[in-house]
Amino acid sequence: MRSAPTCLATLDTRPRKQGQVKIRSFMPGIYVHIPFCKQKCRYCDFTSFPNRLNFAEAYMACLYREIEMRGKELGTFRFDTVYIGGGTPSVIDAKYIYGLMKKIVTCFHLTKDPEVTIELNPGTVDKEKIALYARAGINRYSVGLQSADDGQLAELGRIHTAEDFRTCAELLAGKNFSADVMIGLKGQKREDVERTIRLAAECGASHISMYALTPEDGTPIYTDYLNGELPDSDEVAELYDAGYACLKSLGYLRYEVSNFSKPGFGSRHNMNYWKRGEYIGFGVSASSFFCGRRFTNTFDLDEYMKCVLSGHFPVIESEEVSEEDAKFEFVMLALRTAFGLSARAYEKQFGTDWRRDFSEAYRKTEQYLVTEGDVTRIRDEYLFVQNSILIEYAP
Ligand code: SF4
Repeated sequence: MRSAPTCLATLDTRPRKQGQVKIRSFMPGIYVHIPFCKQKCRYCDFTSFPNRLNFAEAYMACLYREIEMRGKELGTFRFDTVYIGGGTPSVIDAKYIYGLMKKIVTCFHLTKDPEVTIELNPGTVDKEKIALYARAGINRYSVGLQSADDGQLAELGRIHTAEDFRTCAELLAGKNFSADVMIGLKGQKREDVERTIRLAAECGASHISMYALTPEDGTPIYTDYLNGELPDSDEVAELYDAGYACLKSLGYLRYEVSNFSKPGFGSRHNMNYWKRGEYIGFGVSASSFFCGRRFTNTFDLDEYMKCVLSGHFPVIESEEVSEEDAKFEFVMLALRTAFGLSARAYEKQFGTDWRRDFSEAYRKTEQYLVTEGDVTRIRDEYLFVQNSILIEYAP
């Protein structure tokens, strides 16, 4: 059970002593959660409220306040990325996003050339919105396509059609944008996956994220899963392989199990997560990792607003990451990526040899790994089933 929000004591931002877990190897990022959507997709278990768009103005005022509060604490740090996710950030008036970015640049130091991403859903943007986003400093867009098949989109409860995606992509012509593609859908064939990827590529996506549908307990789609209507894990693996081959043939490089980009267009924000870099999250349900602590905001919209309005951080969980957990996170996150795990980077951070720290797990999984120089990666053909490999490394 979650405890009531508490005021998180001021973060300890002093440099760590030698021998403790070292932090801040990479430039930190900022995440902002906008929890509003037009309607709830059938598979969604994210924190999103389809019936509360009328709270957008009050919510954004609270977000600005939370940013100010945290800015006072972390104003001396420099941040390299901002990611505005949700929910559907593009469903609210663009003036709030403009105000949000103004608040962020006032309260935080960003690098000279920050990567600033916003998530969009087709059918929720127009020319004026995109123009205001650009004026706000947004330079990367992540568009929820999911499928090129209107029947599958309707089945998922998405608000848009494939044609809406085309229109959205036209509005983004010449800009850096990513498209989300989903695999593991009811009745989905490999040709469907390929058609969706081709649509995204034709429309100019510089980046494609290909995720497997996860039927979460409590979502309507979970019933489909229980009824055996969704592809099983072997079928999903085949869809992934088909998608991977198609992406490769179109010039998209895999840099993480679910993420593919044209050269030079990998997401800096996500790379920071996978390199175990720090980030600070704002908004309902946002999580953070900073100064050796992981902490999470309340998932309750009313509680979030009440807490911030009374001048408290809306944090419900906060814990210092132990050295053992930090080592596991480092290994797990690095092995998810195509860049793999650098023994030197591990030793620099923890002062030990990762193979010695995880000798038993390494022995059991060595056959699925390949080592070149000081870097170890999961072999290409096993990357999609990485979870069953990484589980061996869990503390
Ligand atoms: S648009 Fe995204 S956040 Fe909103 S309901 Fe659908 S999956 Fe959930």
